[in-house]
Amino acid sequence: MIRSLFLSLILFFLVSCVAPGTTFEELDQTQIDEAIAIIKNTELDEPVERTRKESVVLVEDIIEKISPVTDKWCDENNIPDVRCNWKVNYLDDDMFNAFASGRNTITYTKGLMNGVASEEEVAFVIAHEIAHHLGNHVANAQRNILLGSLAGRVLGSVIDGSDDLISQTTDLGARFGSLVFSRDQEKEADYFSLLILKDSGYDLLEARNIIIRMAQKSERDDRSTFFDTHPTGPERLARFNETYKEFIKN
Ligand SMILES: [Zn+2]
Repeated sequence: MIRSLFLSLILFFLVSCVAPGTTFEELDQTQIDEAIAIIKNTELDEPVERTRKESVVLVEDIIEKISPVTDKWCDENNIPDVRCNWKVNYLDDDMFNAFASGRNTITYTKGLMNGVASEEEVAFVIAHEIAHHLGNHVANAQRNILLGSLAGRVLGSVIDGSDDLISQTTDLGARFGSLVFSRDQEKEADYFSLLILKDSGYDLLEARNIIIRMAQKSERDDRSTFFDTHPTGPERLARFNETYKEFIKN
């Protein structure tokens, strides 16, 4: 109970400190219901086992395919080179996860690579993390790490002065801080990701399967940690669908 109170307080503190970025239209209930139905009724292909080597080669291929699009984007928007060339790490960890950190680092896990079926699903995740770098989201998130650890320390010392608790809550704050991009940044990263994939010639509906997959996971026990930081399944899928419709119209 106290623990979850900590979490909500820390999260509230962090979220309320994030400067507003791009704003997106609110979704209506019909769009959410449609997404819920898709999540419920879609039967996805089984995940494919990939060795470390196969995973690394696949991600390199994806980056090669999307680079012409991101290079152009970087040129047109004067984005510093460092944020347009990525250091990509394979993490030997069973957690289904990927994240952007530092100035240009992207890390993806073994659990992710063995948890999806198609190249397009992986491409969505990689493009999403790239989008966090292109959008300079990490700079803001780094501020959150500091705020997060501060929030943890303050809460820890107010509720109980013991050193143990202070360091625990500080860790907790730092951990959550390090994970928190604002919801608008997440929406922006998904939107940019779709744009990148579309312009790179990827099949967007195939890529969408990863969102459906994560949403289905979240309803089971093997909840992905990706969910701690990202919009919940139906909302995310509904937004994807809206962006997709927008692309088809144009
Ligand atoms: Zn993200």
